[in-house]
Amino acid sequence: MSGPITLADFADMSVDVLAGIGPKRSAGFAALDITNLYDLITTYPRRYIDRTNEARIADLHPGDEGMVMVEVVSVTSRRTRNRRTMVLVDVTDGTGSLRVTFFNQGWRTRQLSAGTHVVLFGRCEDYRGARQMTNPIVDLVPGTNTGRIVPIYPNSEKAGIGTSELTAAIGEILRRSAKRGFAEPVPTHLLKRHGLVTRDEAIKLIHMPESMAQVEIARRRLIYDELFRIQVALVRRKRELELTTVGVSHSPDGPLVDAFVSALPFRLTSAQQRTIDEMFADLTAVAPMHRLLQGDVGAGKTIVAVAGLLAAVQNGHQGALMAPTEVLAEQHHLSIRELVGRLEVPDPTTLAGTRPLRVELLTNRTTAAERRKLAAALDRQQVDIMIGTHALIEDGVQFRSLGLVVIDEQHRFGVEQRAALRDKGADGAVPDVLVMTATPIPRTAAMTVYGDLDVSVLDELPPGRTPIVTRWIRLASEDESGELDLTGVDQGAEERMWNHVRDQVSAGRQVYVVTPLVEESAKLEVSSAEATHARLANEELIGLSVGLLHGRVPSAEKESTMAAFRAGDIDVLVATTVIEVGVDVANATVMVILDADRFGIAQLHQLRGRVGRGSQASSCFLVASATNEVAIRRLEAMVSTTDGFELAEIDLELRGEGTIMGERQKGRSDLKLASLRRDRYWVEKARADAIELIGVDPTLDGHQPLADEVLRLLADDETEFLLKS
Ligand code: ADP
Ligand code: MG
Repeated sequence: MSGPITLADFADMSVDVLAGIGPKRSAGFAALDITNLYDLITTYPRRYIDRTNEARIADLHPGDEGMVMVEVVSVTSRRTRNRRTMVLVDVTDGTGSLRVTFFNQGWRTRQLSAGTHVVLFGRCEDYRGARQMTNPIVDLVPGTNTGRIVPIYPNSEKAGIGTSELTAAIGEILRRSAKRGFAEPVPTHLLKRHGLVTRDEAIKLIHMPESMAQVEIARRRLIYDELFRIQVALVRRKRELELTTVGVSHSPDGPLVDAFVSALPFRLTSAQQRTIDEMFADLTAVAPMHRLLQGDVGAGKTIVAVAGLLAAVQNGHQGALMAPTEVLAEQHHLSIRELVGRLEVPDPTTLAGTRPLRVELLTNRTTAAERRKLAAALDRQQVDIMIGTHALIEDGVQFRSLGLVVIDEQHRFGVEQRAALRDKGADGAVPDVLVMTATPIPRTAAMTVYGDLDVSVLDELPPGRTPIVTRWIRLASEDESGELDLTGVDQGAEERMWNHVRDQVSAGRQVYVVTPLVEESAKLEVSSAEATHARLANEELIGLSVGLLHGRVPSAEKESTMAAFRAGDIDVLVATTVIEVGVDVANATVMVILDADRFGIAQLHQLRGRVGRGSQASSCFLVASATNEVAIRRLEAMVSTTDGFELAEIDLELRGEGTIMGERQKGRSDLKLASLRRDRYWVEKARADAIELIGVDPTLDGHQPLADEVLRLLADDETEFLLKS
């Protein structure tokens, strides 16, 4: 082989092609998920030690804090009188010697031995006339390193891999590839546009920088590299679908959509209008729509979905809406029936030439006989809009002509399930797909996580909503010794909260009480809900009509409880998170969340969205003790804002990237340096560049090295995902 090396070439070379890497070292690397040279070269330093700040032992005075680079001379260990382990290490740097003492770090005897090179950072003390450091920060470094900046790599003592091993292996790759250099997959004009160095330079600089400024230059390029590659993959996939699949073209102009919109008792918000326009543009096109509708709870996504479904029906097709739970499907069925109930569709078999538009519901509660009837009606296209749960994708359910699929709370469905629903049309046409989510994620994260979808955002609530006031009812917490910690606790607050609940009920309003999330077991969660229900009904809320809803309530009872709550026959509904999504009772004005510290931000936000849906002032109470720092920040965030997008940003900050990518892609992340949060600027740039590039060269034929990388370097799960979506 000759010519510059591509990263894809490297992915084909196993680590044991390197000198000095035998089976044992290979196994060690494998334990760190490093199996080939691509993995190795993209294992980046976690941080760097800047030796311009280095001191010589001879110049360290007691009281000085300093960093020294030393070699270990000897290591001994003993126990102190109060049975603590003490490891004594003597080190030297040629200018002097230093005694290092570690308390309670017995493992240091395994980490350090005579001849080991380490960088120590700590305060120099005087111990009987000799220099000493106690419990300094220790970094193992290769003895051979003479550079001013020393990279520190990820370390796994168990695998026997650390900075020395990685420096050696990566150093050898760089030496052996120095002549050929690394191929440049990114077009030069893009590098120029952003002032980025070549990949060849960036890879060298990140591993062997001479200054921290060089590290920054390298990082910037490599961050762009990662983001650009992902965006090219996503945008190309999207374009490919648009070019190769023939979908259904629906004209949005027609009697049904018009009649629906003009019969609405309110005006569309401008966000709804914009989103509907975006969707209609997609529906008109022959290429199938793949659009994500992000909208905060209560933003009015249902209206948008119905407008789309009616456009499909008006063009002679059927529509399907799939929701993740029975409660939600039933709710959608009720509200959509209400919205479209008086519309008529053409039907030549009737005397009038029309019949009422028919909306049906299919869930696991549907009886076998009913299901057979519905299936037959679907097949004869007598059902126009079918709403349901997973039951929709079961065998035996087939649409005559499926034109639009709407998937609510899409993150609750797997790729397979979404694909299965899409294949439900008997005529084989590829329907348009609208996926909806009320779990907002930040824009740049959406560009990556949902980069193969078009995104519409409903960023405006319908007018007349009064903002929800959120309060944290802080309970006392117990410290380790069982002492009650009363910091910030207002002891009358909980009682006042229940009084407020009673007042609201007297005023004719309704209330939700959400019981603690018990992650270990659904059974425990149910018993906690039952216990809370029993207590509230007999104590705090005695005399009120208190209902109970949880995952194990039989579905007939669930349905009747929900019906009673909607009808106002139940004042207070005690429930687990089964009410998290979609439940819509405008008369409910108070949300009480018990043990709120156990819930994540997205969930708290969803739950809070169950109130504030009407014109009445609403409130949300988060009842929790201050258990840990992150929980406190979540609760404070909830109190400070009701803006789902702002909360999503905070959530991303608190949880880190992994979880966001995890929503779509399990396993190894392709982002090794880039952060969707920190590097928003580069996400946007990379996406715009990818769109531009794919616009000119949709197949990437003119950008072979890039095409290669996209195909081979992205984690398998992700490519697989992309192919199925
Ligand atoms: P989402 O599904 O986005 O949480 P919904 O579609 O359930 O929100 O709408 C929430 C409530 O707002 C519903 O009661 C709906 O009828 C009402 N609504 C929707 N759009 C508007 C609007 N433009 N003006 C007033 N109310 C609206
Ligand atoms: Mg909804």
